[in-house]
Amino acid sequence: MNLLPFGKLAPAKPRTFVPSTIDLGDWAQIAPLFDELEARVARAGTVAELEKWLLDWSELNAALDEEASCRNIAMTCHTDNAEAEAAYLHFIEHVEPQLKPRQFALEKMYVAHPQRKSLPKPRYEVFDRDVANHVELFRPENVALETEEAKLGQQYQKLIGAQTVMFRGQEKTLVQMGRYLEEPDRALRQEAWELVAKRRLEDVEKGEEIFDELVKLRTQIARNAGFENYLEYIFRQKCRFDYTPADCVKFHDAIESEIMPAVREIQADRRRQLKLETLRPWDLAVDPQNRAPLKPFADVGEMVSRTQKVFNHLDPELAANFQEMQDLKLLDLDNRKGKAPGGYQSTLSEARVPFIFMNAVGLQRDVETILHEAGHAFHAQATRGEDLYPYRSSPIEFCEVASMAMELLGNEFLEEFYAPTEANRARKTHLEGIIGFFPWMAVVDGFQHWIYKHPVHTRAERKEAYIHLLDRFGGDVDHSGYEAARAYSWQRQLHIFLYPFYYVEYGIAQLGALQAWANSRRNKVKALGDYKKSLALGGSRPLPELFAAAGCKFEFSAPTIRPLIQLAGTELKKL
Ligand SMILES: [Zn+2]
Repeated sequence: MNLLPFGKLAPAKPRTFVPSTIDLGDWAQIAPLFDELEARVARAGTVAELEKWLLDWSELNAALDEEASCRNIAMTCHTDNAEAEAAYLHFIEHVEPQLKPRQFALEKMYVAHPQRKSLPKPRYEVFDRDVANHVELFRPENVALETEEAKLGQQYQKLIGAQTVMFRGQEKTLVQMGRYLEEPDRALRQEAWELVAKRRLEDVEKGEEIFDELVKLRTQIARNAGFENYLEYIFRQKCRFDYTPADCVKFHDAIESEIMPAVREIQADRRRQLKLETLRPWDLAVDPQNRAPLKPFADVGEMVSRTQKVFNHLDPELAANFQEMQDLKLLDLDNRKGKAPGGYQSTLSEARVPFIFMNAVGLQRDVETILHEAGHAFHAQATRGEDLYPYRSSPIEFCEVASMAMELLGNEFLEEFYAPTEANRARKTHLEGIIGFFPWMAVVDGFQHWIYKHPVHTRAERKEAYIHLLDRFGGDVDHSGYEAARAYSWQRQLHIFLYPFYYVEYGIAQLGALQAWANSRRNKVKALGDYKKSLALGGSRPLPELFAAAGCKFEFSAPTIRPLIQLAGTELKKL
């Protein structure tokens, strides 16, 4: 039974190393390929042999990556299918754990290789830098600590996942409660918000305990690797070679000086429209004019054909790319029973084609998602000619430029979905969302800077540091009477627990996306040409060069941000 939405996809390049008949779910068939790679790298005496070896390793990695992706796609498209679940779990439990040490052994052999330094520099420098970094940071004593860390992460997820409330006689998850914050009835919103806040507060002490342990563990991991603190360590571990913690602090300051005035203006506008004295935390998600939700399309077929028209306006090459995804059935977009929640873009690394998964229900959010994921898909299609597997993907700071810029560029043609006034309403919500994201990012990132620079701190000090950040970046929302809920609101941000320091990337990328959008305002053809050229670089160049190719500065201080916020502000006034 084929559980994949698409048919059999041929590799973009015929295999020359991995046998065409191999079962990539069977470790016994995979292991000999690693044996062979180990034996061959030891024998590789020339640069040409080392390069050929790198390509064979790439071929194997792409094949394994595609196998994992296909199993994940089959499972998320059919959560109720036992066969799909078993195939996915088999790979996670029996192949992936075997892969990790074997991959690391190859990395070590590569780093120690005598021909490594003779590889052509511009071609291999990013790859070389990242592999060497990974090998250098490895400490055997950290393996057990990382397992501990993952277990604490699981405890956190269990804690959060178990949180439910009884609302009007029905048990609801906190995620389900979110929709009541969009209700026009203010008393109902307040009731829903209070209930959720109260439930979260019941678990605060447990959250504090888990987090205390995580900070201790992470600090130890960093010290074991020879770093003074986890902040310094994580920048290296995430291959952040092109910006420093100090750059991020400058970013936070620039958000305070350049973006907070715009945030306050948007909040004041909302307060006036809602005819309120003060904005309370339950007034932030409702439509300020109490309008019904926008209805961009009736079914997924219509969503796809209208999205196609948006790309037809934008660029013939991108339009052809989206058409190709339809032709190859690389889209599974409708919300139906037996599908996992959410949306993602996944790349089939061997066929070198993208796949988009979504749960569209007919809201404007779906239009934003399809444009966003299409941006990621275009990125995958642009790197199709790259044979070195690691270069077919970019660092997150740039991947999200591809997707977020596509939201902004695609939004120019929302009239394909809406009457003009409705299109403007959607654009306004989108731009306000972009502006409103920056301060929360500054809080999440700034809080973690403080935490790991002060690894020994009391819970009271931690609370004070967080409140200080909210005072800087919270804007004009009145939390009086709910001080405790406000002081511990960081506990619901799962990144702080599970993916430390993974957040600022979205802010950095959004600056790139806004620059690409500003460029297209000046010269549409050039901006789009630069966008496509930068995508085609994949991960082959460092971040500042990827940004430069897209016509953007890799820089996050006030002088870069100011004109972008001005443009967004001018645009908002027109809508
Ligand atoms: Zn994305």
